[in-house]
Amino acid sequence: MSPPPSLASGSPTPPSGAFDVALLDLDGVVYVGPDAVPGVPDALASARAAGMRLGFVTNNAARTPDEVAGHLTALGVPAGAGDVITSSQAAATVVADLLGAGAAVLPVGGAGVAAALTAAGLRVVARAEDGPVAVVQGYGREVGWAQLAEAVVAVRNGARHVATNTDATIPSPRGPLPGNGAMVGVVSAITGQAPLVTGKPDPAMHAECVRRTGARRPLVVGDRLDTDIEGARRAGAASLLVLTGVTDPAILLEAPPQHRPDLLSADAGSLLVPHPAVDRVAGGLRCGAWTARPAEAEGTWLLSADASTTDPGDGLDGLRALCVAHWERHPDDGARARVLAADPVAAAALAEWGLGPAATGSEQ
Ligand SMILES: [Mg+2]
Repeated sequence: MSPPPSLASGSPTPPSGAFDVALLDLDGVVYVGPDAVPGVPDALASARAAGMRLGFVTNNAARTPDEVAGHLTALGVPAGAGDVITSSQAAATVVADLLGAGAAVLPVGGAGVAAALTAAGLRVVARAEDGPVAVVQGYGREVGWAQLAEAVVAVRNGARHVATNTDATIPSPRGPLPGNGAMVGVVSAITGQAPLVTGKPDPAMHAECVRRTGARRPLVVGDRLDTDIEGARRAGAASLLVLTGVTDPAILLEAPPQHRPDLLSADAGSLLVPHPAVDRVAGGLRCGAWTARPAEAEGTWLLSADASTTDPGDGLDGLRALCVAHWERHPDDGARARVLAADPVAAAALAEWGLGPAATGSEQ
């Protein structure tokens, strides 16, 4: 068996061959809003053809596994309900274990929340006066004042507040929009009670997906550091971060250790290609044509692109070199990174990644 991947070692064989199961996050990975990320359905079909199995693990609680599977199938990623794990299911399992089958529970969120509670043998109630012993809150576009007020009253009356997830945002073609975490925050700000969170990064969903698929070498593929990547680490799985969702390069570079992915790519199409290693060279770290070196100014990196190298890579080799260099320097905590460009190519990349001003001059 090959050693576990890391951003430094890359993946010499394509992940579709190096791992047996991909545990895919959905929003920001397979689709953004209603539409597939371009190229990803075809890439997933090729990964399956190469022998990789797929499981779908979503913190979005609004829809049932059946609805999610139908959406995936319509986008060209054939899936059955059993291939999908939602955070509503995870919350329902936790609540049934905690409070017993038949317990009265008030759902807040889309249809997927109530459906999961019923499927787990819990009794769904609509009002605080019905005496719920728990409130399970998940994402739903229809959540508004009336549902939030009901939740506040129930929690104040002693019901346990359970959140399917606390993602503050969801990705959309219009940029980040309010996620379940923002709505959970409304309830907890009034009740003063911290919710019990059952979705990612809690490892239960990834562990359940590993159990169902019998994965021996799973790879979590996600777009979010504090749920997908941290959840993978807590489940003991390798992780691949894709940049088609809510994480941008500046956020990634500053990530604390538990949020650092093992692999990085523009999108999930990278399941089909090798991932480059980051090598130590004189005075710095190099990936492909790109080198990150300590600059003269304290705590600053100098990024350069070697114009004599013709292989452009996937456009992220400079970011890989920076991440490995910066994370080595900050093994225990996330830290702000200052990066200067040594040449116009590096300057353009840094501007695109949102890493500081588009410095054009050389620092050397
Ligand atoms: Mg996502």
